[in-house]
Amino acid sequence: MERGEGMYLWDTEGKRYLDFVGGWAVNSLGHSPAVLHEALSRQSSLLVHASPSFYNKPMLEFSRLLTDISCFDKVFFTSTGSEANESAVKLARKYGALKLDGAYEIITMTGSFHGRTLAMMSATGKPHWKQLFEPKVPGFRHVPLNDIDALFAAIHSGTCAIMLELVQGEGGVHEANESYLYAIRKACDMYGLLLIADEVQTGLGRTGSMFAYERYGIEPDIMTLGKGIGGGFPLSAMLAKQELDLFDAGDQGGTYTGQPLGMAAGLAVVQEIITRNLPEHAAKQGEYLTGQLRSLAVKHQLHHIRGKGLLLAFDLPSGLSSDKLVALCRDNGLLINAPQPSSIRLMPPLVVTAAEIDEMIGMLDHALTALSVHA
Ligand SMILES: *Cc1c(COP(=O)(O)O)cnc(C)c1O
Repeated sequence: MERGEGMYLWDTEGKRYLDFVGGWAVNSLGHSPAVLHEALSRQSSLLVHASPSFYNKPMLEFSRLLTDISCFDKVFFTSTGSEANESAVKLARKYGALKLDGAYEIITMTGSFHGRTLAMMSATGKPHWKQLFEPKVPGFRHVPLNDIDALFAAIHSGTCAIMLELVQGEGGVHEANESYLYAIRKACDMYGLLLIADEVQTGLGRTGSMFAYERYGIEPDIMTLGKGIGGGFPLSAMLAKQELDLFDAGDQGGTYTGQPLGMAAGLAVVQEIITRNLPEHAAKQGEYLTGQLRSLAVKHQLHHIRGKGLLLAFDLPSGLSSDKLVALCRDNGLLINAPQPSSIRLMPPLVVTAAEIDEMIGMLDHALTALSVHA
């Protein structure tokens, strides 16, 4: 790929693609947004990097903004979602060491995705990752999503936290039930465990609210953000409540933590998300997109249309491979994603318009027709 603008990418041959993958739920403002360009060019002429030993102005402004718009009080900045989750796991283990007699086990969900560092591959609940890169980092126990009994059965004196995505993204867009999340919050309160929400994919407007936890009426103790927070600039964050201000100097850090250029980028992106009220726009466009998918569903036997805001998925009729559909769409100039062999996921930039949704639906209809003719 060579160039991007709004909802479109152009490759080195000049071919245009309508982008419903959005850089993997990253380009929240679309491609090459002016605010990001301006923030990067302004900050890069001022200060790109000072050293992790110093605070800087955009870092302070950005952490103030993130704590203002969320239920959290403290922020730690990293570059990738995996690192933000590593930070959350380290903080939960520190909490366990200090407050729970050394408990360190973290309960995570089957089908979850938390990243590709060794510890996050261990936290992730992908069945076919079980045998990879052994031995895994110990201290994670997996339970099926939305099974309250299995959750309570898994809690023991060595447990320090429960970690989950409120909508599983990579796993194929599966939501945690409201009653399940209430039960988790209750279990955490009862046993003094921490609730960690991995909002790397769902955060910053993606599911139609600023953070997915807001729609459930519960508050996590720790939240991680990534992907859309930098609009394409590699940036992530861990947010925590004041009581969890437990790290000593040196416990957690990184060469690029709070790096001024990234801070200016993230600040500009999140301010734009707020100014343009993109969470509400995502909710509205998500409803429209869901409706358009439903109208295609009968004709092409699509089923299980699901998700919230602009994190949507559907299943294909049996016998139709999602990889095949993705490849044909790409040839035709449309980018979509196949998280599972028979499902398709859509996660366009939050700025997508109804006209661009109509264009995508037309291209999808065309590709599905072509594949069913050849089936
Ligand atoms: C993408 C993702 C991660 C990992 O982020 P990286 O930036 O690839 O390290 C973690 N959790 C969730 C929910 C994700 O979607």
